[in-house]
This record gives sequence, C-alpha cells and structure tokens, in this order.
Amino acid sequence: RAKSHGAGSHAYYTEHVGAAIRERTRLLYDLRQAVAKNLLFLAYQPQVELMTGRVVGLEALMRWRDQRGNHVPPDRFIPVAESAGIIRGLGKWVLRSALLQLKRLHESGWPELRMAVNVSVVQFEMLDFLAMVQESLVEARISPRYLELEVTESVAMTGADHVRDVLRQLKALGVTMAIDDFGTGFSSLSYLDNLPVDRLKIDKSFVSTINGHEEGARIAEMVVDLGRKLGLTVIAEGVETETQAQLLKRVGCHEGQGYLYARPLPADDLLGWLTSFGVPT
Ligand code: C2E
Ligand code: MG
Ligand code: MG
Ligand code: MG
Repeated sequence: RAKSHGAGSHAYYTEHVGAAIRERTRLLYDLRQAVAKNLLFLAYQPQVELMTGRVVGLEALMRWRDQRGNHVPPDRFIPVAESAGIIRGLGKWVLRSALLQLKRLHESGWPELRMAVNVSVVQFEMLDFLAMVQESLVEARISPRYLELEVTESVAMTGADHVRDVLRQLKALGVTMAIDDFGTGFSSLSYLDNLPVDRLKIDKSFVSTINGHEEGARIAEMVVDLGRKLGLTVIAEGVETETQAQLLKRVGCHEGQGYLYARPLPADDLLGWLTSFGVPT
C-alpha cells in the first residue's frame, strides 16, 4: 500500500468515511425493506418486584432478523432510524403492538401487568406524540396507568418547552415515566427535581460491578438511595446473578430486570413463562 494511503492522509480519510457512509446507506435500505416485509418484531422482558418476586411489568424491545437470519441489534439500527426519521413510524408501531399484546395478557389472567416502551427523543419532538399515545391506548382499551414510557436522561434534561409540556401532559393523563440508563449521561442532578418522572432505571453498568465485594456495590447503592430520596421507584436493569438481586433488594431497590429472571421473550412464549415463573399480580 502506497505511503500516501497511511492513516491521516486524505486518501485514507475519504476511503474510510466513504465506507462508513456506504454501510449506513445499506443499513437504512435494509431497514426500510425489513419494515415493508414485516421482519421487525418485539421481544418482551419481564420486570420483577424484588420484595415479593412477582412479575409487575414487561419492557418491549425491538428485534430485527435480517434476510440472512442474522440478528441486528437495536443499538445499531435505532440511531440510523432516528437520523432518517423512520423512528417516528417505527415507534408508533412499537407502542400499538406492545399495548395490544398487553391487552391480551390482561385478558389471560394477568390484569395488573404494565408495559414499558422505549421512546426516542425524535418521537418526543413530534407535535402529535401525545395524541398518538392517547389513540394507541384507546385502540387497545388499556388504561394509561399500565403504560410506562422510558426516556433517556438527555430527553428528561432537555430545556425545550415542548418536551417539558409533553412530559407533564403524559403524567396528567396517567402514563408513568421512567428514566432509562440512569447514571450514564447526566452532567447535573438538579434536573431531577420537579421532573415529572416516576421511576429510575439504574443502568446495567452499575449493576454488573456488584460481585459480592463492598466496592462493587457502592455506586449502585448510591443510585438506589438517590432515587428513593427523590420519592421515585427504582428498577435495576441487567440483573444477572442472585448476588446482585440480593444486594439490590437489601439496599431498597424496588424492582429488577435481567437475564437472572428472563431474557427478552418472543410474544408466543410470554404466557408460558408467566405461568411457570409465579403467581399473577
Ligand atoms: P434499554 O432500553 O436500556 O434496554 C435494555 C437492554 O439490556 C436490552 O438490549 C436488553 O436486551 C438488555 N438486557 C436485559 N437484561 C440484560 C442482562 O441481564 N444482561 C445484559 N448484558 N443485557 C441485558 P437490547 O434489546 O439490545 O436494546 C438495546 C437498546 O435499544 C435499548 O436499551 C433501547 O435503548 C433501544 N431500544 C430497543 N427497543 C427500542 C424501541 O422500541 N424504541 C426505541 N426508541 N429504542 C429501543
Ligand atoms: Mg429501556
Ligand atoms: Mg436501559
Ligand atoms: Mg441501554
């Protein structure tokens, strides 16, 4: 390879940026095809109350198996869907499907389960977002209190009046709000006060360090404490071991979600899993 193609050279740069753009374009093309061919589906991960061991909720997570049968992780395709704007339509489909699924579970002996749905900041900025949420609830005949919307800290922290208004209106409607991946993105804690949220989801990076030694649990303990002092309920994500579950329970964390209880499940496996895991709430 010629010297002029070394890192930092113009040719190297254009080659690599070109490759990245081609890959993104390809992904976007494939994603549009996948949407058209109904290749996207939802998986549902149970959320468990630590004190009682009861299943209290489910989180809907998007799944995409491409034409070759390969799983494309949401962390890869959602940013592309966001920047291309197709997250708007996708997000609406996720909400409607998840609520219809919840209705089926409510009618099958699990009347108190709630459904958590991830919402992108792009959706929050849509002028008709609130109306879309309301319509989806009416369509599925689900009371707003069984719907929880998960937003990231960056959404919660935004100073934008529209976003704050939507948060307040959702809250007034009776929908609950959770801050996802809590602890990974904040530059200031002051935004938490007066924010209309109900729940903090402790990011799995703080849970994964809990290993039976005191040091590993420090940050998780602090975040649980912070949430409790703010009057919020706290759920830990990425709970993989019994050690983690026990520690979290001991420090007052309300709920847990993770491979210890279940991986995200296909819709068809939900009732079977719920029945074998425990008693209805
Ligand atoms: P998230 O909302 O923080 O979801 C939690 C992620 O942790 C999920 O990854 C889940 O499969 C994974 N997870 C759950 N339990 C464990 C565990 O015990 N150990 C480990 N290591 N991981 C665990 P997933 O499904 O790949 O989703 C990644 C992210 O993509 C989500 O993070 C969320 O931000 C986004 N996402 C997924 N579905 C949607 C959607 O419908 N809309 C939007 N806007 N974003 C979505
Ligand atoms: Mg989430
Ligand atoms: Mg999360
Ligand atoms: Mg995450």
